[in-house]
Amino acid sequence: TTIGVVRETDAGERRVALAPDDVPKLRRAGLRVLVEAGAGAGSWFPDPAYAAAGAELADRAEVYAGSDVLVVIGPPDDLTALRPGQWLAGLLAPLTDPVLAERLAAAGVTAVSLDLLPRTLSRAQAMDALTSQASVAGYKAALVAAGAYGGYLPMLMTAAGTTRPARVLVLGAGVAGLQAIATARRLGATVTGYDVREAAQEDIASTGATVLRLDTAAGTGTGGYARRLTAAETAAQQQALDRAVAGFDIVITTAQVPDGRPPVLVTEAALDGLRPGAVVVDTAAGEHGGNVAGSEPGKTMVTPRGVTVVGAAGLLAQLPQAASTAYSRNICALLGSLVRDGAPVLDPDDEIHAAIVVTRDGAVVNPRVLAALG
Ligand code: NAD
Repeated sequence: TTIGVVRETDAGERRVALAPDDVPKLRRAGLRVLVEAGAGAGSWFPDPAYAAAGAELADRAEVYAGSDVLVVIGPPDDLTALRPGQWLAGLLAPLTDPVLAERLAAAGVTAVSLDLLPRTLSRAQAMDALTSQASVAGYKAALVAAGAYGGYLPMLMTAAGTTRPARVLVLGAGVAGLQAIATARRLGATVTGYDVREAAQEDIASTGATVLRLDTAAGTGTGGYARRLTAAETAAQQQALDRAVAGFDIVITTAQVPDGRPPVLVTEAALDGLRPGAVVVDTAAGEHGGNVAGSEPGKTMVTPRGVTVVGAAGLLAQLPQAASTAYSRNICALLGSLVRDGAPVLDPDDEIHAAIVVTRDGAVVNPRVLAALG
């Protein structure tokens, strides 16, 4: 069985699905590894590193033709190059793009998507690419905020006097938010965290940060995620946050609701309440809005009052080595689960396999994806 690795086709993508360090592990498991020349370049993994680790280098067409399982980050542009019976594994986002699943089914491809993983199963954690990538993004978000901020984060005692530590507020304390909290704390800031889920309060406290509690509705949903708040609850939350954010120097937002638009947590009124020089980093900024009023992905704006709003985009592309290394581990764990006696197989009794399979035998078989197709 041959595992194929191709260069990612998404604009701005720098990650690669398999790192050279993990090639020997796959080789020991009896797998052949075929890598498109240049596939790792964006992550600073040169071709010779793959070759030295035991992979074979080839051009793109040869990787498509010669591999049984193609491992990717996102779905490649040239899906038509896939052949019936071939496997595709990655973060295929079949719930937001179910039409892609239909195309893969029509091509006879067996597709598995790590964004469908039952994340609370402890056995799934080694494959949890959403967690590994969110952690990288959260770390980088804190660094982006520190970079955009005109002051120090730590308290510094110098001959010229003592600086006070920056006050950082992190809104949304899932995987990314908790890593942003931890990183800002390591830089010496005084950090406060907030989340709408009750369970997250404990997570925030365990990092040593202060927990911001609002007297508004809790928003615990299903599967460990938050639920979308009602319009009235959202208005109450926004009003409470308008007051709460005012004293902070840096606000980092990471709030998401499953399959939906990110909630607006920092309103225009809240931005007006921040002091000149304050920095807001919105990691949720995207085509479906963001957590901060007016933020746009990839854009930095300064409000008339002097508050810098960063619509953080491509955080993973700014830390490609860490992101690819972590993702590669997730992919190896996935392959470890799928490959039996040298070939990939889906075990219908395996909860993880049942959850992540999108297409097989020419059909979309995942109930959640089928529901998304309507
Ligand atoms: P996510 O990216 O979907 O959301 C980020 C955070 O935003 C969440 O903590 C959510 O509660 C918060 N949020 C949503 N709406 C909000 C609002 N209106 N106000 C404030 N905060 C809001 O979440 P995620 O990081 O992927 O993970 C969320 C949770 O999933 C984890 O904390 C955990 O409970 C669960 N999870 C469990 C495991 C595991 O058991 N191994 C692994 C990963 C995730």
